[in-house]
Amino acid sequence: MPEAVPAAPSGDRIDRVRLSLVFLPLSVAASDAKAPTGRQQPLNEVAFLFAEVGTIDGHRGLGFSYAKRAGGPALYAHAKEIAPQLLGEDPNDTGRIWEKLAWAGASTGRGGLAAQAIASIDIALWDLKARRAGLPLAKLLGTYRDTIRCYTGLSASPLPEIVDHAQRALASGVGGIKLRLTQPDPSADLERLRVLRERLGDGVPLMLDANQLWDRPTAHRMGRVLERFNLVWLEEPLDANDTAGHAALAGALDTPIATGEMLTSVAEHAHLIDAGASDVVQPDAPRVGGITPFLRIAALADHKGLSLAPNFAMEIHLHLAAAYPRASWVEHVDWLEPLFNERIEVRGGRVLVPDRPGLGITVSPKAIAWTTDHIEFTETA
Ligand code: MG
Repeated sequence: MPEAVPAAPSGDRIDRVRLSLVFLPLSVAASDAKAPTGRQQPLNEVAFLFAEVGTIDGHRGLGFSYAKRAGGPALYAHAKEIAPQLLGEDPNDTGRIWEKLAWAGASTGRGGLAAQAIASIDIALWDLKARRAGLPLAKLLGTYRDTIRCYTGLSASPLPEIVDHAQRALASGVGGIKLRLTQPDPSADLERLRVLRERLGDGVPLMLDANQLWDRPTAHRMGRVLERFNLVWLEEPLDANDTAGHAALAGALDTPIATGEMLTSVAEHAHLIDAGASDVVQPDAPRVGGITPFLRIAALADHKGLSLAPNFAMEIHLHLAAAYPRASWVEHVDWLEPLFNERIEVRGGRVLVPDRPGLGITVSPKAIAWTTDHIEFTETA
């Protein structure tokens, strides 16, 4: 239980919070194994909740979280209810503010949508801290490396196109290729993987993402067949909440098991990590509630000696992966590029930590045009 002693104020305080709901259209609909099984429709757009926080000393921070398919308007609605509680707060007190916002919506739980609404604000506060220090966020946290290995994920395409896409991605500077399963029958995907390994050579890092498609017996059978491909990891072979199943698989296979992208709290990740259910943890900062909870998950993962490969949103995650003590990867996803004025540089198989302060991103005119709703809270309002 926290001590009920007020912290000494820094002198600065939050006097402005602006929230925006933005719908990013995708030029090519995205889908994975969850589409042919009928679980999900292909994805045509992603909803973003942007939070911009300002202080009386003139400091600014920008954060965002997101929802795929459904949930964007609900994130925005929840954030609107809790954001007024930020006014007057010392922007430095990220942990205490996270708890205050969580308690404000405690009856909705400490994960899921409530945590993701807080995430955009929490990320904005960390961006503010780093911008004010004149440092990239990675440097504020403490970097272990200035570049991070990155891979790109390939979706359903016919075989010749897959090889072509992979070769173009590698030529553009990306350092690994992740194949997503496309159908319930794994034989066609195994053939795609075999051809990809043959054409790209043994030196190219390859991953396979099953997107929770298999049951336990299938995962064990497939896992044994996959050992010969020397994958960097096998991702989400089982239902995201099947911790015991993932742990048994991680114990049985040499191929590292990666999972965790669907989890939405520190508690869920702690359970996964304690159970030995993953060799590569995949927390997603916007999904787990922001940078404050992400750092707690990273500390637990480091203690167990695990690798880190955060899911999606490389604009945020490259900073967090750079500040992780052990092996780390980021997913090179260019979907978010139109939302920002800046571009992430990729070279020699790695993304470069930008030298700009904070996250190093500003909202683009396109993102402003795609805004469907916004609201601003100020101290005087
Ligand atoms: Mg995945």
